[in-house]
Amino acid sequence: MNAGPVTGAPYLKFAGPELDEATILGVADVLRSGQLTSGPWVKRFEADLTAFCGGRTVRVLTSATAAVEVALQVAGIGPGDEVITPAQSFFTTMNMIVKVGARPVFVDCDLVTRNVPLAAIEAAVTPRTKAILPTYWPGSLPDVDALYAFARARGLRVIEDAALVMGSRSRTQTLGAAGDLTTFSFHPNKNITTIEGGALVVNDAAEAARVDALRFHGIVPLPDRTRDVAFPGGKFNLPDIQARIGVDQLARLPEFLARRRSLVEHYFAHFPRDTDAVLPPAPTPGDGQSWNMFCILLPLARMTIDRKQFRDAMEARGIGTGVSYEALHLTTLGRSLGGRDGQFPVSERIARETVTLPLHTRMTPADVERVCAACADILRTSRR
Ligand SMILES: *Cc1c(COP(=O)(O)O)cnc(C)c1O
Repeated sequence: MNAGPVTGAPYLKFAGPELDEATILGVADVLRSGQLTSGPWVKRFEADLTAFCGGRTVRVLTSATAAVEVALQVAGIGPGDEVITPAQSFFTTMNMIVKVGARPVFVDCDLVTRNVPLAAIEAAVTPRTKAILPTYWPGSLPDVDALYAFARARGLRVIEDAALVMGSRSRTQTLGAAGDLTTFSFHPNKNITTIEGGALVVNDAAEAARVDALRFHGIVPLPDRTRDVAFPGGKFNLPDIQARIGVDQLARLPEFLARRRSLVEHYFAHFPRDTDAVLPPAPTPGDGQSWNMFCILLPLARMTIDRKQFRDAMEARGIGTGVSYEALHLTTLGRSLGGRDGQFPVSERIARETVTLPLHTRMTPADVERVCAACADILRTSRR
């Protein structure tokens, strides 16, 4: 229950957006303009995203989930195909693979980085494998160049779930500026927001035209100014008021990322060292990582309370937390595909122990210290 302040301090949400007054006024202008959807602000936002992605073609959609579904369709993935994807991710990856008629082949991940080792992907490849769908984590973007070299050598498509890591950089470039199909999310909890929204980076004009049809009824314009439909497209086009928000948000992305990063550095400076909690990989200067969330693993085996009780105790101190994320193969859908307990021990341990602590641009260093003090108090008094 978001009962509000108990300690006298205001309730601290674990995630949330930051919109400025100029953006709110800009939205009102769009509302007055009469051009509410698939209009000039969508074109402008896509052009700005193209510049951000080093000139690659970008299309915006109503969510990252829509972007992943459309990306799978653009890659021609369907019934009979297998897609290798982590067991520890948000539901989107599993759901959309199943939705296009393909089969998710789950692989386990690393406990700290949550990345899937290339050896595990290699072991999961079969003659039916068509694509790899990795989820990237805040603070631990893997060696993307190595992943692409691996995929190219085996003729596999790559669909990057970069919902959480817009603005992360590999050794060579910004995520989205190279590669195959990259998806971003603009949900209010992500690095920038359009309320709901997402983007898909594609390889060429033919793929962009395919996205245009897939996100809007399958419609293809004909020279005589009538329209044809050759396949059942969806309805995933972004309204202009949302694109208007996105233009301002994208301009502020560097500032947002710098603030998130300094809050994370503050977490690393103040999180209690004597609690046996597992922290994400520590930031190092020039590492190119972005920080959307700060997820810890609770030392449950050494605690007298469970995760729900830990989260309730944080809530009682006016601090919101999240769970990012449940293990996909142990959901009812995952089990219906053959998932079973013990199959992916690391993903299952993360799913049991993970807690998302507050991290967003409207927080102050004092908020971080308050969260760290609450964690120290609860973890020390519940030590077994
Ligand atoms: C948020 C999220 C998504 C889905 O984003 P939407 O825009 O809400 O559809 C997908 N994958 C991951 C890892 C996410 O965190």
